[in-house]
Amino acid sequence: MKDQFGRAIDYLRISVTDRCNLRCIYCMPQEGIRWVPHSDVLSYEEITALVRIFASLGVRRLRLTGGEPLVRDALPDLVAALHAVPGIEEINLTTNGILFSPMAGTLKAAGIHGINFSLDTLSPETFARITRTDRFSDARGAIDRALELGFDRVKVNCIPIRGVNDGEIAAIAGLAKDMPLEVRFIEMMPIGCGKNYTPVTMEEVCRSLESVYGPAASCRIRLGNGPASYVTFPGFRGHVGFIGAMTHTFCSQCNRVRLTSEGYLKLCLHYSTGIDLRAPLRRGDGEEALRETIRAAIARKPDQHHFAGSSGEDAVEQHNMNAIGG
Ligand code: SAM
Ligand code: SF4
Repeated sequence: MKDQFGRAIDYLRISVTDRCNLRCIYCMPQEGIRWVPHSDVLSYEEITALVRIFASLGVRRLRLTGGEPLVRDALPDLVAALHAVPGIEEINLTTNGILFSPMAGTLKAAGIHGINFSLDTLSPETFARITRTDRFSDARGAIDRALELGFDRVKVNCIPIRGVNDGEIAAIAGLAKDMPLEVRFIEMMPIGCGKNYTPVTMEEVCRSLESVYGPAASCRIRLGNGPASYVTFPGFRGHVGFIGAMTHTFCSQCNRVRLTSEGYLKLCLHYSTGIDLRAPLRRGDGEEALRETIRAAIARKPDQHHFAGSSGEDAVEQHNMNAIGG
């Protein structure tokens, strides 16, 4: 399935819930959150029905995200159902890792290929400051568990925050020195609570890494489906990636669309542009009608985000990231 700019859309990110067991300062406020009513959240059957249609249009890879996907009951049941959809080749998960370890074997058996863990610090105190909880050891332990079980790809996503964890950049990258995984630094985006922070640029991150590990060697290998560019350092078992959403746009290669927990098909992270798929699904529109609705929506995918400047005519996203899925 191609959009109007000729980009092939083969990747769907599905937010299975807006709920979360953490309250990361750049993602959600501590209180006063307006949750999506349970009756508005797509059931597993509804998600699977939509994925069947997306797969018939050429989507091959899925990512389950949230909120925190593992707080939703029986997530492995959804994974197994999606794994059985013809055409779906890969299902990955983005998680804060808190609930991961006891479920890891079941998730793998159900068909999860790769895991992205979000971990912004190696210090329990800083973890408490960022997430407003004391669950550091569960989050850190999840990474070891995923490696033990041999998931295809294990990545650690870190958002450097000025004055909070930016002194730990080299230490966090050091996870890829000691373990066969990718550590990816992601520039803070001005979405929801993220607007309260000034991003640490990827140039700054790269400079602090080179001051500790020496010159970065850029790698040409493709590590996954995303916008990260990767480097490695002498003696590293894994790689270090940079996702510079603000200072570099990767929109010309964008291969993805997003489905929110309410069944809204979101075409670009920056904009609320998209279409509700829940209403037509619930009123019983057939597969062919839904396929046409999705095809028409994707044709309208914006050419690029404008985080760094004027946002054009479309409505800029006002939700917090937990409602979008990252
Ligand atoms: N709860 C899961 C987790 O944290 O991995 C999945 C959902 S979370 C919204 C997905 C990703 O979005 C996380 O890696 C998080 O760090 C990132 N994120 C949240 N707010 C952000 C912001 N303002 N800018 C950039 N990334 C953000
Ligand atoms: Fe929850 Fe993930 Fe947002 Fe943190 S980044 S509050 S873990 S949804």
